Amino acid sequence: MYYDPASEIQDDSVFGEFGGVNPSITDSATYTFLHANTMTETFEGKTEGCYLYSRHWNPNGKNLASALSRLEKTEAAWVTSSGMAAITNTILQICSHGDHIVSSPTIYGGTFAFFKNYLPKFDINVTFVDITNLEEVKRAITPKTKLIYTETLSNPLLAIADIPELAKIANDKGIKLVVDNTFTPMIITPAALGAHIVVNSMTKFINGNNDCVAGAICGSEEFINSLSDVNNGTSMLLGPVLDSFRSASILKNMHTLHIRMKQHSKNAMYLAEKLKEKGVDIRYPGLENHPSHKLMKKLMNPEFGFGGMIVINVNTVENAIKLMEMMQNEKVGYLAVSLGYTKTLFSNPGSSTSSEIPEEVQKKMGLTPGLVRFSVGLDNDIERTFNRIMHCMKATNLI
Ligand SMILES: *Cc1c(COP(=O)(O)O)cnc(C)c1O
Repeated sequence: MYYDPASEIQDDSVFGEFGGVNPSITDSATYTFLHANTMTETFEGKTEGCYLYSRHWNPNGKNLASALSRLEKTEAAWVTSSGMAAITNTILQICSHGDHIVSSPTIYGGTFAFFKNYLPKFDINVTFVDITNLEEVKRAITPKTKLIYTETLSNPLLAIADIPELAKIANDKGIKLVVDNTFTPMIITPAALGAHIVVNSMTKFINGNNDCVAGAICGSEEFINSLSDVNNGTSMLLGPVLDSFRSASILKNMHTLHIRMKQHSKNAMYLAEKLKEKGVDIRYPGLENHPSHKLMKKLMNPEFGFGGMIVINVNTVENAIKLMEMMQNEKVGYLAVSLGYTKTLFSNPGSSTSSEIPEEVQKKMGLTPGLVRFSVGLDNDIERTFNRIMHCMKATNLI
């Protein structure tokens, strides 16, 4: 039942043009053909291993896509210049004017804004429900619904979506289940649990170095081909292509993803247990008291842990600001949005990454003003980091 994405990626060997252990980087936007008719056939998508133009496909994008399809256990994948491009292209490829989507308000702020403010331009409407309430999900589906959209682990409250049950609902209705797996690469393999399409922001854990923005769409061969169709493929026509140099560097970083995920998870579990012991109001799906703990245990590939994200509640925005500023000075990590970096990053979701979400919706989803979200880093001495956090909490009278 469990999937081992790390071993799958390890077996994905592509040599460089001159036998280099890393694939050569193709420094070209366009490609030559020896025969004009091969060009025509490539245009029609009939040739294997031929490249036409870099916005369509390029060798480095293809190498990275191949590793991604192994990571997410899908037939194929496509790489994009951002996570948002992966999400918006997927939605626009599936939905047409008048269609409907069922999703949750606990999704990434940018995705929420796209659903709520942008899609209505095309008369595509989204109903936001509590995605952990399967009856509510079912009730929201109409004859116009084309897909259910969820994140594996909700942002920022870290509730887990019951992907197998959501997939059942989607299959019953003949619609797609699209899952954003940005928070849990390797840990959870949504496609192995029934999801039809998996999107990722590679900006976060997959690349892991915070040196670029990139995204991925993983799905069936048929769906990926439809995205790159020269006549009506959303990705081909909107053009969010990822540069070859970036594709090559992300692929190299992906080969250490399993080690990083294990260390992020180990450090996050340490902090979560210790902070809980000290009476801090903390959420981490690895803790037994987390509402999603049992479900996550059932769905995860166990060797990669419960992930690198923890959330604490210090009640007010003012407290959160004081604590975050001091933690930055005391070298706990950086006060910054984003996640999946080598160092610990922390932010106050209500005033940053989730600020696109209206206040009354924030309240309903339990997003209180004093949350501090941590993306726990790869610290070698996590006890030292814990002591620094404690020092900051004491100095700001939070404990
Ligand atoms: C960051 C993020 C995105 C957007 O990705 P970009 O690479 O910034 O475009 C989408 N979903 C989730 C869960 C994210 O954390």
